[in-house]
Amino acid sequence: MAVRGVKGVKDKYDCIVIGAGLGGLTCANRLARAGRSVLLLEQHSQLGGLATWFRRKNHIFDVALHGFPVGMIKTVRKYWSKDISGRIVQLKGIRFDNPQFQLQTTYDKVDFIKLLTGRFKVDQQTVDNFFAHVRAMNFYDDDGRTVGELFEEFFPGRDDIVRLLMEPITYANGSTLNDPAISYGIVFSNFMSKGVFTFIGGTDLFINMLEEELVKNGVDVRTKALVERIIYDGDKITGVVVNGETIRAGSVVSNANLKTTLLDLLDDGALSGKFRSETEAVRINNSSSQVYIGIKEGEKIEPIGDLLFTSVAEKFDTAKMLSKDVTSRTFSVYYPELRPGQDKYTIVSSSNSRYEDWADLSEEQYQADKKALAEDTLDRLEKYVPNIRSIHDHLEVATPRTFKRYTLHVDGSSFGTKFEGLPISQDLHKEVAGLFHTGSVAIIMSGWLGAANYGVIVANEVDRYLGV
Ligand SMILES: Cc1cc2nc3c(=O)[nH]c(=O)nc-3n(C[C@H](O)[C@H](O)[C@H](O)COP(=O)(O)OP(=O)(O)OC[C@H]3O[C@@H](n4cnc5c(N)ncnc54)[C@H](O)[C@@H]3O)c2cc1C
Repeated sequence: MAVRGVKGVKDKYDCIVIGAGLGGLTCANRLARAGRSVLLLEQHSQLGGLATWFRRKNHIFDVALHGFPVGMIKTVRKYWSKDISGRIVQLKGIRFDNPQFQLQTTYDKVDFIKLLTGRFKVDQQTVDNFFAHVRAMNFYDDDGRTVGELFEEFFPGRDDIVRLLMEPITYANGSTLNDPAISYGIVFSNFMSKGVFTFIGGTDLFINMLEEELVKNGVDVRTKALVERIIYDGDKITGVVVNGETIRAGSVVSNANLKTTLLDLLDDGALSGKFRSETEAVRINNSSSQVYIGIKEGEKIEPIGDLLFTSVAEKFDTAKMLSKDVTSRTFSVYYPELRPGQDKYTIVSSSNSRYEDWADLSEEQYQADKKALAEDTLDRLEKYVPNIRSIHDHLEVATPRTFKRYTLHVDGSSFGTKFEGLPISQDLHKEVAGLFHTGSVAIIMSGWLGAANYGVIVANEVDRYLGV
């Protein structure tokens, strides 16, 4: 299994991967399977990055397991193992509850077409055209349109439909109506093919199974290994400095935040002025806040759905969704079936948040605001679980500051960078020989599926660079 610290590492590897998020993990595994020697360095004590969990009392809380698209089955089967992909199952109870509509859906194409033509009374042709349009959207023919403009073309003036189509995706990747339509089209189509999926056994089992697979494939996996510097010799990347030690490598892949990688870790002089200023201009995606609620042993929650997209805002409004004055929350309800053999329930409430709203609060104000968020969340949850105040025995809040602390992401970003981060990430190895980046960027390369798939793409680039 993973070793703490860097004692006993080799002098040189074909590739050093910085960070064990899903992008870094998948990249490392793919390279090892291709016969490369790989060192995976994670600064935290646990692998997984944002795909993480934590234990409190007798509870296990999943942080980012609200759901992912069906494509995860294929990716995990192909690049990890059948045993792991065999545990992925569909979540069927997706609920919306807001002032504009209340409904339950399996969140797949068939059900959405039924909803749009039936309940929302859009004609069949328009719905078919919309689905055909988003399905055909391709990164290479981005027409520069925004998500808002796309909706206006197909569903003019229908802010109820905008909410239905947009709210879950905003939770899933932080995107807004002002982001490129292409980013929406790709992510929405991924979910719409078959719905929302989860991993039976929870995030802890998932990441532990990945770790076993990495070790079996020969990856040298190190935790508590903080990379401080990426070394550039004037011509190419030659290694890293980690926990004060220099380790050489034929290539380096960073799964750390794109801006941190290029502006903080990489040696000065490696980037041209133009590439550097383009990197500086990349906008960071938003962060999250969450409230974790553990249910007492012996207590039960009646089935209320798996994912509840709730809002008290009159209409879909990105600014309100990000506001510290929370109006929109996704409740993820984890029933005992998630971890068979354990009769445990937990609920995680998630909202999109801005780092700057939490960053500079005094400690006293920070604690008070966290408490207020927890209490307000229980108030909202009482609508679905009326006795929640008497049946919970653990209540805890994470803010953008928490996400920053555990992953070192700039501003605690939950979903990497905005769209303009993609060419910087993709072209990095053309700018600096031997240096690659993988992980959440540009909305489409984020979430569990996007990050894992990007790990594969980058591993193939690294393999080509290393040659025979
Ligand atoms: C609250 C929340 C809920 C989410 N829910 C979902 C969901 O339901 N479904 C979904 O698909 N996605 C979800 N996501 C998004 C998803 O979890 C992420 O997009 C994805 O896991 C990111 O993977 P990544 O490869 O970009 O790496 P990250 O997870 O960002 O990991 C990067 C890793 O690099 C490490 N690192 C950084 N700097 C260094 C350094 N200098 N040295 C060594 N290591 C370093 C970090 O510690 C971290 O482990 C959620 C995210 C959040 C925050």
